Amino acid sequence: RVLVGTKVDESHANWVTAYNMLTGIRVSVSRTNAKLDRELTDADFEAKQKSTFDITGNELVPSAKYDFKFKDYAPWVFRRLRTLFRLDPADYLMSLTGKYILSELGSPGKSGSFFYFSRDYKYIIKTIHRAEHKFLRKVLRDYYNHVQNNPNTLLSQFYGLHRVKMPYGKKIHFVVMNNLFPPHRDIHTTFDLKGSTIGRDYKEDDLEKNPRATLKDLNWLRRQQHLELGIQKKSLFLEQLRKDVVLLKRLQIMDYSLLIGIHDLSRGNEENLRDKTLQVFNPGGEKSATDELPSVLLRTPSKMESVRKARELREKIRQERPVPIGQSDKMPDELGETHARPGFVFNQDDGGFQATHEDNSPAEEVYYLGVIDCLTHYGMIKKIEHFWKGLSNDRSQISALPPEQYGDRFYNFVEGITMSAEEARKEALQKERE
Ligand code: ATP
Ligand code: CA
Ligand code: CA
Repeated sequence: RVLVGTKVDESHANWVTAYNMLTGIRVSVSRTNAKLDRELTDADFEAKQKSTFDITGNELVPSAKYDFKFKDYAPWVFRRLRTLFRLDPADYLMSLTGKYILSELGSPGKSGSFFYFSRDYKYIIKTIHRAEHKFLRKVLRDYYNHVQNNPNTLLSQFYGLHRVKMPYGKKIHFVVMNNLFPPHRDIHTTFDLKGSTIGRDYKEDDLEKNPRATLKDLNWLRRQQHLELGIQKKSLFLEQLRKDVVLLKRLQIMDYSLLIGIHDLSRGNEENLRDKTLQVFNPGGEKSATDELPSVLLRTPSKMESVRKARELREKIRQERPVPIGQSDKMPDELGETHARPGFVFNQDDGGFQATHEDNSPAEEVYYLGVIDCLTHYGMIKKIEHFWKGLSNDRSQISALPPEQYGDRFYNFVEGITMSAEEARKEALQKERE
């Protein structure tokens, strides 16, 4: 599994795909944003809007560099979701548009997904499997209702669902979602936790080579790590997680994980932005292929440059849609931005959730947390499992847990790791007595 964080520019193999994805997003999102807001209807959840891009363009679709087809799914629902997640419409477009602004996180893992980061690292584009795409559409209303009732949900925040198709190419489905990790802070340790121990180990020997690799359940346990949240934060966190897991179980979802990024305040930021693109976005932890790339591709634009580009982009976006009166039209100063997301409990401390001691005093770490990879339906897993079992004839090799049990195991594991040493001791004693 080779994962790299490389800038996608014109020399990149996936440049055209990335360019088309962004062009499609820019045009379709500005189209929806330009209309007056209205209440959602049932039809909005099933809606899809198709656009055909080419070099000439027409009255509906501006000209584009390449020929491609683009589909925007449930545009009104996602517009509402972006509002619920309190994204500024202009900022969203700004982050996701323009040239050579993405960096790609390597080639596919088991699932075959590609990850791209917006140039400011706020957003992730993940290509998803057709089955995941279908599933998201199917459960969109449940997801929407859940977000409405749970503004602090820990589940992945989906901002858009699209499809791009190039001539003679495959259909590529993708989602736009939040990057859980901050653009402005080093993440010193990352864990991807499922609550299972089978195969959930990153070889610690390899950590020397890849200090930023994503660690797993067994690494967590071996290090006797725990989430230090104090009493109040802990109950907020567990209460939200419990509600999120109830939804995941009901929708028969599994295979999701809790992603935890830990920023150690005592270490601060050691790396500059350039290095960050290579390290933070290298979850597999394998050696980055960017090491071999000419450094010009890795150049971080200077502040002046960024500001100029932002201005150009804003102008472009403005030309393509009427700016509704009263809509935020501010110029984001890309570098001097604040990263706290006011109103969101788990992003209250400069974008993260600061660790807290049992006595309520602040601890030296900031956590960035969320539940990711939550589009795998039980039925899909079952199919794959059957396939493998048929091949290997080994019943024990893969064993998919039904969603109910998966969710319980997941929640119990997380509850367990938020226990303080004191609580853990008490519980162990209790168990001994029984
Ligand atoms: P698989 O199905 O094999 O687990 P996948 O292709 O579905 O892989 P994910 O599990 O969604 O991929 O993510 C893989 C890794 O990418 C995560 O462990 C994490 O390091 C990183 N990642 C995924 N989503 C996010 C996110 N929203 N914010 C930050 N990092 C993320
Ligand atoms: Ca996963
Ligand atoms: Ca997956």
